[in-house]
Amino acid sequence: MTFDLAIAGNGVLGLSSAFAFHRLAPSATIAIIGPGDRPGGATLAAGAMHGVFGEVTALTSASPHMLLKFGWALEARKHWPAWRDAINARVPVNRQVESTGGTIVVLNSVSGRIDDEAYLEIARLLALYGEPHEALDPSMVPGLAPLEDCRPFRALHIPGEGRIDPARLLAGLTEALRRTERVSFIDDEATGIRVEGGWAAGLALRSGTVVRSGRTLVAAGAGTAPLMASVPEVSSRMPGVFAGVGCSLEVARSGCAIDHVVRTPNRSFACGLHALPGNGGHLYIGATNYLKTAPQVRPTLSDVHFLIDCAVAQIGETIQGGHLVEAKVGNRPVSLDGLPLIGGTCVGGLFVLTGTYRDGIHLSPLLADRIARQMLADGTEPEPDFPVERRPIPLSDWAITKTRAVDHFMSVLYENQAALPRCGWQALQRDHLRSKVERLYADLDTDFPLPPEFLPIIDLRRETMVPFFRDAIRSLQSAHS
Ligand SMILES: Cc1cc2nc3c(=O)[nH]c(=O)nc-3n(C[C@H](O)[C@H](O)[C@H](O)COP(=O)(O)OP(=O)(O)OC[C@H]3O[C@@H](n4cnc5c(N)ncnc54)[C@H](O)[C@@H]3O)c2cc1C
Repeated sequence: MTFDLAIAGNGVLGLSSAFAFHRLAPSATIAIIGPGDRPGGATLAAGAMHGVFGEVTALTSASPHMLLKFGWALEARKHWPAWRDAINARVPVNRQVESTGGTIVVLNSVSGRIDDEAYLEIARLLALYGEPHEALDPSMVPGLAPLEDCRPFRALHIPGEGRIDPARLLAGLTEALRRTERVSFIDDEATGIRVEGGWAAGLALRSGTVVRSGRTLVAAGAGTAPLMASVPEVSSRMPGVFAGVGCSLEVARSGCAIDHVVRTPNRSFACGLHALPGNGGHLYIGATNYLKTAPQVRPTLSDVHFLIDCAVAQIGETIQGGHLVEAKVGNRPVSLDGLPLIGGTCVGGLFVLTGTYRDGIHLSPLLADRIARQMLADGTEPEPDFPVERRPIPLSDWAITKTRAVDHFMSVLYENQAALPRCGWQALQRDHLRSKVERLYADLDTDFPLPPEFLPIIDLRRETMVPFFRDAIRSLQSAHS
């Protein structure tokens, strides 16, 4: 089997890259390799919000790289109308891909101060960028009926920021690609990348088949790391990719009449609580985020319990009587520095597109177009913004990183209803967490401020995780020294 392009990964980035490549080079043959049922894939577990302003945190403007990524989110939004039209031109009317709704960001006091900072920054950037929005009376948000002690005190409506149904998007892309007759879907798993004479020659599959190709793209989400390990000359020079394990729920008969995306800002190491009208009148509730070194395919009971608890308290009490249709789990591809990896590598013809973390669906038309153009160029030019082979990029200095880490841990406590004694204990708890954070970073003993969301997994399994992350950071830095 020989193709012009072989893609490892059949999530939104693999399919979108194939579609963008096909539009630029219609006669090229493309193979898309990935398991048909996509176990642990991020795309199908996602609420698939078009998060631009809703994703903003206090770090967005403080970090030049986060600001660059925010610029990507704005640019991606411009791509969506033409992208949807291009897919829909190849899909019957009853299966068209549409983005719906707007977003309402609510601020309540269930979590910690991270919520306030992010909310203020969202409001500031909405004004700065002239984005249409309005402040709402939070008690008037349609469908929002939280418990009294969880009621929000501020709300912002962003009409230009809705969501897309990820299942429909994947189905639409699949159908559009099948119609071209130039694209083959292979229900298998890539186990290695073939390199011959310094050039990527294709992929070895679990079934024993070898797919030969002129260009090879790895867009395997949280499954990227084991595959890239077969090319040590690249993997030793790229930030590792981890799994941001996220659980979400689909609920029928929830009694909750939400008709927009209703979300909190990003909080407590995760993407905030959000509820939105999902497929077939079901309510979608998301999402947890727990960083792991390998993808997971089943949600934990604690994740399900946490989400139900948050939704009942902060969205609507009636949800408790809803019928659980599915508890989904998806693995966000998270790089060592939390930023995307996109572009060519030192091996000719080998490209990577991953590390999209929380907003890969929204970014997909933009990233797909970029990677397709790069693959059709001479094949070696690096992506100027977030190259695949790079030193880890610090998102903030040590002082900010450590303070953020403490804030995140405090938020976890509050969201889990930890009742601290009123007098003196909040400061005491902060001091305790501050020492924990200082100790963890001291144990890691590197000059790279690892993003705080890695700390819980390191803290839980210190004996193995401290040396693991220390080595990962040091060896990546020395590969670029
Ligand atoms: C709970 C949750 C909520 C989210 N909410 C949003 C949101 O609101 N908005 C947004 O834009 N983004 C959101 N995201 C993030 C978004 O889902 C991801 O950034 C995006 O889907 C990543 O796409 P992908 O194609 O890289 O990965 P995936 O969707 O994970 O696809 C990778 C595919 O590659 C396959 N694969 C893995 N290894 C191999 C291999 N060796 N060979 C072949 N195939 C392989 C996997 O089976 C999988 O099907 C969310 C994610 C989660 C988990």
